[in-house]
Amino acid sequence: MTARIIDGKTIAAELRARVSDEVARVRRDHSLTPGLAVVLVGNDPASEVYVRSKHKQTQAAGMASFEHVLPADVAQDELLKLIGRLNRDPAVHGILVQLPLPKSLDTEAIIGAIEPAKDVDGLHPSNAGRLAAGLPALSPCTPLGCIILTKSVHASLQGLNAIVIGRSNLVGRPLLQLLLNENATVTIAHSRSRDLAQLCAGADLVYAAVGKAELVRGDWIKPGATVIDVGINRLPGEDGKARLVGDVAFAEALNVAGAITPVPGGVGQMTVACLLVNTLRAACAIQGLPAPAA
Ligand code: NAP
Repeated sequence: MTARIIDGKTIAAELRARVSDEVARVRRDHSLTPGLAVVLVGNDPASEVYVRSKHKQTQAAGMASFEHVLPADVAQDELLKLIGRLNRDPAVHGILVQLPLPKSLDTEAIIGAIEPAKDVDGLHPSNAGRLAAGLPALSPCTPLGCIILTKSVHASLQGLNAIVIGRSNLVGRPLLQLLLNENATVTIAHSRSRDLAQLCAGADLVYAAVGKAELVRGDWIKPGATVIDVGINRLPGEDGKARLVGDVAFAEALNVAGAITPVPGGVGQMTVACLLVNTLRAACAIQGLPAPAA
């Protein structure tokens, strides 16, 4: 058996197209241009690439994009003042502070200063708490993308057994909550879990969000299961260039799974597309409009 490859690139492009249509509609019918402000502190090369891609895709969707680049040694107060200004700016509906922040800054305090209605990364404790309580919330983008990819395979996740490996605030925990909202039965594993292979054996849905190259082996996977690989790990390639691999041993899993996301070309593609969805949703909610179709 060879698994179906879940094409994150195409699914993300379709989602971005739906967002663009909805943005055009709210601009035309309500004179509303959703705006996303991205704050980058320092010059970490990977963060610069992500921020550039967010800027391009935001503009391509017809939204306003505001970029704020601050030096790595910016004072905490300065950054908090900027967030205060963005919180009050009516042209800004979404605020994203690119993580990780330099160690000199208090990440929790910075995230906590973002107005929850504009917290399009879904990391503010108010949104995390609402999500955990089963209330409407802005949810983190990568887990949202994981759910959309899973639904490209399964019309309903109701009653399916899922395992989420990893319990970070960015991926594992919100993914657990989103899966519960879909009525899946969820196990969440982490670095202290015992016998991951056995925990995976009964799972119809396997989510790997660990950051350990090829941790999940093919023989852990139940035949026919859907595998969503969140991990992005850089290994040295034969040509001296870095090679990207996920948290799942892809070549092994391909022979067992029913469907699987590749790395790259899977979950990574969905994250920015879901950021656009969250910005559009935030703009409509702030403006008192019904939730958009995208
Ligand atoms: P993180 O904050 O480092 O969390 C990693 C999680 O994995 C922790 O909960 C940790 O357990 C668990 N873990 C570590 N070693 C383990 C092991 N041997 N067995 C089982 N669990 C283990 O990482 P993250 O931010 O969630 O990111 C995870 C991966 O996803 C990374 O590769 C990251 O680059 C990638 N990522 C991709 C996207 C995307 O857009 N595709 C977005 C975000 C992240 P403890 O809690 O016990 O320490």
